[in-house]
Amino acid sequence: MKIFKFGGASVKDAESVKNVASIIKNEGAIDTLVVVSAMGKMTNAFEDVIDSYYHKKEDLPNKLNYIEEFHKDIMSSLFDKTDEVYKEVDVLFGELGWFLARNTSQRFNYVYDQIICFGELLSTRIVSGYLAKIGQENVWFDVRNYIKTDSNYRDAKVDWDLTEELINKKVDTSKINITQGFIAANDTENTTTLGREGSDYTAGIFAYCLSAESVTIWKDVPGVLNADPRVFSDTTLLEQISYEEAIEMAFYGASVIHPKTLQPIERKEIPLLVRSFVNPKEKGTTVSKGTMLEPYIPCYIVKKNQILVSISALDFSFMVENNISFIFQKLHDYQLKVNLIQNSAISFSVCIDNKFNKFDEFHNELNNQFKIDVQKNVDLYTIRHFDDSAIELIENKGESLLTQVNKETSQIVIKPN
Ligand code: ASP
Ligand code: MG
Repeated sequence: MKIFKFGGASVKDAESVKNVASIIKNEGAIDTLVVVSAMGKMTNAFEDVIDSYYHKKEDLPNKLNYIEEFHKDIMSSLFDKTDEVYKEVDVLFGELGWFLARNTSQRFNYVYDQIICFGELLSTRIVSGYLAKIGQENVWFDVRNYIKTDSNYRDAKVDWDLTEELINKKVDTSKINITQGFIAANDTENTTTLGREGSDYTAGIFAYCLSAESVTIWKDVPGVLNADPRVFSDTTLLEQISYEEAIEMAFYGASVIHPKTLQPIERKEIPLLVRSFVNPKEKGTTVSKGTMLEPYIPCYIVKKNQILVSISALDFSFMVENNISFIFQKLHDYQLKVNLIQNSAISFSVCIDNKFNKFDEFHNELNNQFKIDVQKNVDLYTIRHFDDSAIELIENKGESLLTQVNKETSQIVIKPN
């Protein structure tokens, strides 16, 4: 069996739904399980609904309307008014309305999951309905009856044993199956979710449980590139990447494939393909056991808007275990993510992400005990498999403030020109 995953961008309008349907027809007519996420930016639109509902804002009806119009507009180009799918979609809007009217819970994460799931439920009804419309038989199922988790809403942990049992018992592997990414359920049948961008992980879960022959993630890019085309003018498609290399890249911040998705499929050595839904004839990238990287070229990962902080003791004492562990505790307390560490006798430098805007509090707290130099708005470049010209390319992007080199990886902090 093959697993396909289509993300929001691949089903953002009626034309894209037609394209997805033709890919499924051509490439996966039997033995395929298709995971689909919410259409276009609908998960964000549902987050707006959740915000308005939770905070009892007046614009809730408008936010809901926007979502309903968006889907109905796409449907009007794909279906006739009498098609079954209209009933299915209306049932979903009915269930959503019922929840909004009846819910009394104040637990935000619980409320979030009960509402956000409709994005995936709607998109899969539409894709499945369209396949049926063009004569492609398929089975739609509610993934919440297959993937079971704990009750840690918005970041639920999979109960692997139960999930594997349910999937193997219930999936008809001879058919085309259409189901939702990202959502799941706990043992009391409440909806849970696997974290934003969780649909890839759903594909990995099915692949693992069914010992699939492959997982294909269909994207709007040709595959995995050696650099972000928004930052680098010259990029190359990576044809083959080993699981380890993909995990390394993700660790340094590449938005390749999340390690959480890779782990289950790596364990069963299931190849993961990243292919273009725009050019489905192209091969794309294969992540599998074997060759680390093909072609073997430098790969660049950029993290913009970092803060470089150099900390030394006021009394010029060495920066060793006691003060470093104190600083690390504070970094952790203020949710500052450390992306690079460099240590010398009297100074300790870290490059950090100020994701939660708590850097100033951290700075204030440490300021009277340490001497602190701060450089804001710097960029951290990581080069996997660097060579001299790769380093030169990065050093030309501004003033280089710090460089760290180990066997396969070079990291450079740049103050941009
Ligand atoms: N629709 C969800 C999100 O946007 C899950 C996914 O797309 O992977 O986060
Ligand atoms: Mg999505």
